[in-house]
Amino acid sequence: MLLDGKKLLITGVLTDDSIAFAVARVAQEQGAEILLTNVGKGVRLTEKVARKLPSPPEVMQMDVNNPEDVAAVASAVTERWGRLDGALHSIGFMPQDALGGNFLSAPWESVAFGFQTSAYSLKALAVGLLEPLKAAAADGGTGASIVGLTFDGRLAWPIYDWMGVAKAGLEATARYLARDLGEHRIRVNTVSAGPIRTMAGKSIPGFDSIAGSWSLRAPLDWSLTDATPVGEMCAFLLSDMASMTTGEMIHVDGGYHALGADFKQREQVPTD
Ligand code: NAD
Repeated sequence: MLLDGKKLLITGVLTDDSIAFAVARVAQEQGAEILLTNVGKGVRLTEKVARKLPSPPEVMQMDVNNPEDVAAVASAVTERWGRLDGALHSIGFMPQDALGGNFLSAPWESVAFGFQTSAYSLKALAVGLLEPLKAAAADGGTGASIVGLTFDGRLAWPIYDWMGVAKAGLEATARYLARDLGEHRIRVNTVSAGPIRTMAGKSIPGFDSIAGSWSLRAPLDWSLTDATPVGEMCAFLLSDMASMTTGEMIHVDGGYHALGADFKQREQVPTD
């Protein structure tokens, strides 16, 4: 199996719609042992939804903005496994006044908190977990892999506003981490997913102004409710099969990014 024996930390499972839930499920199906984390009140939801996974994993509380929380998770991982083969960063948050058409009026405090949580946090997570991640290469293995989730930050989107700027920051952070962590055989990549109706997705006012017409442009039928293809790509990047890929952004969006304009009629496409 693709991830046989891999020890992985997966952040961001909140509901069974969460992209991280699909990653966790595919990872377990492919032989990985996983530990989940989430923040504050989200932990109870994560514990509940974790029971729906093939093998219910432990859940730890970790606010990615709190270095003590990240250090506690790093210690727990080291104690349990002695190493960490991979980590999924599936974390995003932007206050409502910095989204949904508020680009020009958003206050810096909101933007700063959203940027810390959604972009800087990839660096915070990677550095906080560095010792167990470095240990993955110590026994002659292929090293460790960090994967983050983005929504193509190269482009300006309707209503995405400062979250779009944070995603551009996340993608750049992944490239700089790839530069600095390569010497420890740690790879860092992002997956640019098409729209999925998750809690984070639905909390963006006007989500449908992006998601509603996705299938008019994407050559492949895109489902707004099935994150499995995203989970599979993350699993691939977390595996030894991607041993020489780092600093990369891979689209799992039905091919939307490759087209310059919509080319299907509304009646030709599915509505989910
Ligand atoms: P989700 O709501 O299921 O997951 C977001 C997670 O971030 C939640 O589990 C939440 O608890 C966690 N989080 C927020 N603040 C945190 C903090 N301070 N510390 C730790 N965790 C924190 O939604 P999702 O859509 O699965 O989002 C996962 C990732 O995928 C995000 O980075 C999101 O931007 C990205 N993404 C989503 C879509 C989409 O359409 N849903 C598309 C592309 C990329």
